Amino acid sequence: MTEINFAKTYSPLTSAEIVAQEKSNMDEKRFKHCIGVSETSRKLAELNDYDPDKAALAGFIHDYAKQVPPERFIKVIKEQHFDQDLLNYNRAIWHGIVGAYFIEKELKITDPEILTAIRRHTTADVEMSTLDKIVFVADFIEPGRDFPGVEEARKVAFANLDDGVGFELAHTLDFLITNRKKIYPKTFAAYNKWAVKD
Ligand code: GDP
Ligand code: FE
Ligand code: FE
Repeated sequence: MTEINFAKTYSPLTSAEIVAQEKSNMDEKRFKHCIGVSETSRKLAELNDYDPDKAALAGFIHDYAKQVPPERFIKVIKEQHFDQDLLNYNRAIWHGIVGAYFIEKELKITDPEILTAIRRHTTADVEMSTLDKIVFVADFIEPGRDFPGVEEARKVAFANLDDGVGFELAHTLDFLITNRKKIYPKTFAAYNKWAVKD
C-alpha cells in the first residue's frame, strides 16, 4: 500500500488509524480516488499559501462517507437536527453535508475548517474558504479523473483557484441540467457566486 503519513491528524487517532478506518469504509477504487484528491489538495495548497499537510488530510477523508448505506444517512438526518429538506436528495448530496457527521464520530476529527470543507465538497457554497476551494477543486481534477474537459479544468485551476471553482460549477450545472437532475439550492447559489462572467 502507498505509504501515507499525516504529520498532524487533528484527531486522537494516529495517522495509521485514520488510514485504516478510511480504507475499511470504502472499496479500492474510491480509496485510490481519495489518495489522488489528497495529493492534488497538497499541490493546490502549495500554490495558494495554505498548509499543505492539512489540505492533504482533508482531501484524503473528503469521501469517507461516500459508501455509507442510505438508511444510515436517513437515520442521522432525522435524528441529528439536519435540514429535513435533505431527505429530498440522495447520497450524492449527503456524503459531504452529512458525511462530516460520520467523520467527526468515527475519525474523531473536530477541526471546523476541515469539517466545513467536507460539508461543502460536493455542492460548494456562496462562502468558500481557501481549504473549501482546494478540496472542491482537487476532487474534480485529481489524476484519476477522466472526462471531456478535465485537462482544461486542470489548467484553469492550477492557474487560479477561484477560476477553478467557477469552471467546475459551470460544468456540474451543465451536467445536472442535461440529465434533468434536481439541483440542490446551494449548488445554484454557488454557481451564481463563482461561475458567472459579468
Ligand atoms: P465524488 O464524490 O468524488 O463522486 O464527487 P462529488 O462529491 O463532487 O459529487 C458527487 C455527485 O454529486 C456528482 O455526480 C455531481 O454531479 C453530483 N452533484 C453535485 N451537485 C449536485 C446537485 O446540486 N444536485 C444533484 N442531484 N447532484 C449533484
Ligand atoms: Fe464526494
Ligand atoms: Fe470525491
